Amino acid sequence: MGSESKLQFEASALFRMAVEQLDAVAKRIHLDPGIHERLRYPRRALVVSVPTPRDDGHTDVFIGYRVHHNTVLGPTKGGIRYHPEVSLGEVTALAMLMSWKCALMGLPYGGAKGGVACDPNTMSQRELERMTRRYTAEVMLLIGPDLDIPAPDLGTNEQTMAWIMDTYAMTQGRTVPGVVTGKPLLVGGSAGRRDATGRGLVYALGQAARDLRLDLKGARAVVQGFGNVGSVAARLLWREGCLVVGVADARGGITNPRGIDIRELTAHVREAGTVVGFPGTEPIGNAQLLELPCEILVPAAVGGQITVENADRIHARVVAEGANGPTTPEADHILADRGVTVIPDILANAGGVVVSYFEWVQGLQYYFWRESEINTRLQELIIRAYNQVAALSRKEGVDLRTAALMLGIRRVAEGFQLRGFYP
Ligand code: NAD
Repeated sequence: MGSESKLQFEASALFRMAVEQLDAVAKRIHLDPGIHERLRYPRRALVVSVPTPRDDGHTDVFIGYRVHHNTVLGPTKGGIRYHPEVSLGEVTALAMLMSWKCALMGLPYGGAKGGVACDPNTMSQRELERMTRRYTAEVMLLIGPDLDIPAPDLGTNEQTMAWIMDTYAMTQGRTVPGVVTGKPLLVGGSAGRRDATGRGLVYALGQAARDLRLDLKGARAVVQGFGNVGSVAARLLWREGCLVVGVADARGGITNPRGIDIRELTAHVREAGTVVGFPGTEPIGNAQLLELPCEILVPAAVGGQITVENADRIHARVVAEGANGPTTPEADHILADRGVTVIPDILANAGGVVVSYFEWVQGLQYYFWRESEINTRLQELIIRAYNQVAALSRKEGVDLRTAALMLGIRRVAEGFQLRGFYP
């Protein structure tokens, strides 16, 4: 790839971080230089214009992306993000991380990601529907049930997936449930998908706690983000008997050293739209929240939260990364030196893609499983991956993130080795 084209990716800090991680692991596993160079960049990346008529009659043109990192283990899989800062480099980095995550979990997928640079909070439902349908039409070249299967991510949800499926279906003249996952239950969604990421995180945390001889009952937990991932993680930890001593969302945080009742907090959030103002708690800033005394910290909001600035002041014994990329590489070193166990994103938040895989399989077979079956299979896959990662981490004397990346990257590289480069 020419240096001009490479620069477009490298403008993103997340892309540079993802490549830095890949380079470090490549050295450790003696990756073939040709395969290494191939893995640094995507297989294909599509940039599209998304003209969207607004409710007042004028038209805005948004820029959208869909990137396939590799297709060596199967069709590609990854979310679609609606956020003002979406860029080609960010989407490419997230597609790369999806490759490692799918390979680590043993799923037959390569990594993909997509997005539109827009602010969904300022758009009406009708505007969002028009934008989603036009974006889908533009990326139709790259998506399909055996080609590339999108899912929700930041700023998108079940409704977005229903619109994408419908737009795709209209061009085919038939319903194609396997084209997206994270759909509403009634139109081909899977039982358990909504809770899957938070649930998977708590399964992984349970294994780590056993290794650390940490009893979840009575352990203090702090959760940043109270959306799809954070609210489920908080609820399940609370049900396990943890004292959830701090929770935050984008509007601010709350704390109570004696523990917060998550069922009552959920009812409050349904009414108020935020955790802020929940009776019986003190307000706390998002930065201070991360530094609360606790055993378990779950960053489940946005990336770049634990940095060189605050890593020294994190008290938790274990950090379970619900969000993608919440810890910077420098902070990772500081936490490792201080003996803090970090369950990395590609393992801790893999529950979402695992149950997405189950949804895809169910959609292809038109046969749907019970929630209890889904949860049991999810638990099996998370525990298998956790144990493989923990064993490699002990064998190589590396942290869990390095071990997880080693396993994921090695599997993708072996796929390339077996298939060879065309022609
Ligand atoms: P969401 O939009 O449902 O919730 C995000 C939550 O974080 C909200 O409560 C929001 O108020 C809060 N938040 C936003 N900015 C914040 C900030 N600066 N400080 C504190 N809180 C803030 O999103 P989600 O689906 O829960 O995803 C959260 C993270 O998990 C993202 O990084 C996403 O990429 C990652 N993730 C999600 C899934 C999934 O299945 N939903 C799977 C894997 C990874």
